[in-house]
Amino acid sequence: MASDPTTVSGATGAGDAAAGDVWVFVEVGGGRVAEVSLELLGKARELADLLGVRAAAVVVGAGVRSLAGSLVAHGADLVYLADDPRLEHYVAQPYARVLAGLIRRERPQIVLYGATTTGRDLGPRVASTLRTGLTADCTDLQIGDHQTREQSYTNLLYQIRPAFGGNIIATIVSPEHRPQMATVREGVMRLAEPDEARQGEIVEIALSFPGEPPAGDGRPDGRPAVAFSDDDFAVALVRRVTEEKRVDLKGAHIIVAGGSGVGSKQGFALIHELAHTLGGVVGASRAAVDAGYIGREHQVGQTGTTVRPKLYIAAGISGSVQHRAGMDQSARILAINTDPQAPIFSVAHYGIVGDLHDVIPKMIRAYKTKETLAGVVGASGVGDASGVVGASRAGGSEGHGSDA
Ligand code: FAD
Repeated sequence: MASDPTTVSGATGAGDAAAGDVWVFVEVGGGRVAEVSLELLGKARELADLLGVRAAAVVVGAGVRSLAGSLVAHGADLVYLADDPRLEHYVAQPYARVLAGLIRRERPQIVLYGATTTGRDLGPRVASTLRTGLTADCTDLQIGDHQTREQSYTNLLYQIRPAFGGNIIATIVSPEHRPQMATVREGVMRLAEPDEARQGEIVEIALSFPGEPPAGDGRPDGRPAVAFSDDDFAVALVRRVTEEKRVDLKGAHIIVAGGSGVGSKQGFALIHELAHTLGGVVGASRAAVDAGYIGREHQVGQTGTTVRPKLYIAAGISGSVQHRAGMDQSARILAINTDPQAPIFSVAHYGIVGDLHDVIPKMIRAYKTKETLAGVVGASGVGDASGVVGASRAGGSEGHGSDA
């Protein structure tokens, strides 16, 4: 690694510099690091440890130096900063200039981006500039080997994601080109606890804007340098309009999700009522969203939000692979479905075979009156004799809910 840190506080992770480090492009909004970037740093830390290299964070923005400590605590050995008021808001060209220039100089072997609006814009731009690949929306990242008829490769990044409409899980490798790049959606990787005792290096990138003398690599401090051209600022940000997130599925402890089995927009009032009763948030399948029963911001799944609540109630949801991809890591899953063979029961811990219009009012009544659920909904075929509802995933061999 060629960079000389401007600030060094106990550098860590000497690593195999020749192999290249593992980087995360860090997104910043409202002075805070985006959660997806912190999640990715945890994953980068894990991959870097496996490869014996360093994990690094790249931050572009204004006043971003103060964020370096938190990035180190979340796993970065190195934090590259491109800090200037003219870079306050994301604009594709100058950000891509910084990242592509830095990658060319420092040669990381892996670069990860959040699959956000910014990451989905920046990642492909950097990939095409550097003539390398990029796998979008990975659901897992691993290190492994690869063999072709001619050659074997070791320690490649396995970029794992559903393909062909979710019918297969594809493992994609980029054996010939560097860096190996991937985007990952928020919530897919676990957010690791920060370790405030970790120490890392901060490397400030020397920036020169049009009309300024070049901040070259020949400078005595040897910092990485980026020189912008007029073309980089061909697009000017005129106005930013931000809208608060109205639905916080990711932060919810309880989610009550409805599917096409709910049957209508009016039918979703029942889903809202149960969510409200339990202090939860309303989720939905894509079929329910496409049918216009509820807004897209409620969608859970491969192309919606990935969630891991303490309790996920799936009502009238069949449990397609695309839906399960977004919720099967929930701590407890309760499925309500008229079809005992519905695939949702294969991931559910508890299953109720019954009509949701019948079951949910009884659940609400049970919760309000503190009756046991078995006592209230027993008539509609709930659970086994011993419990409130029949355990399926936790203890069942059949893989679907009890219909006792
Ligand atoms: P259905 O599959 O129609 O299931 C309805 C279920 O309700 C059935 O099991 C039925 O038995 C039950 N039911 C009916 N009436 C009642 C009742 N009165 N009481 C109880 N149960 C009842 N889907 C997502 O959810 N999220 C995604 O992010 C997503 N991304 C996708 C991405 C791609 C590339 C593709 C190709 C598809 C994606 N899908 C996604 C769509 C997915 O394949 C399914 O079509 C969708 O999840 C089905 O939604 P559903 O379970 O609500 O509907």
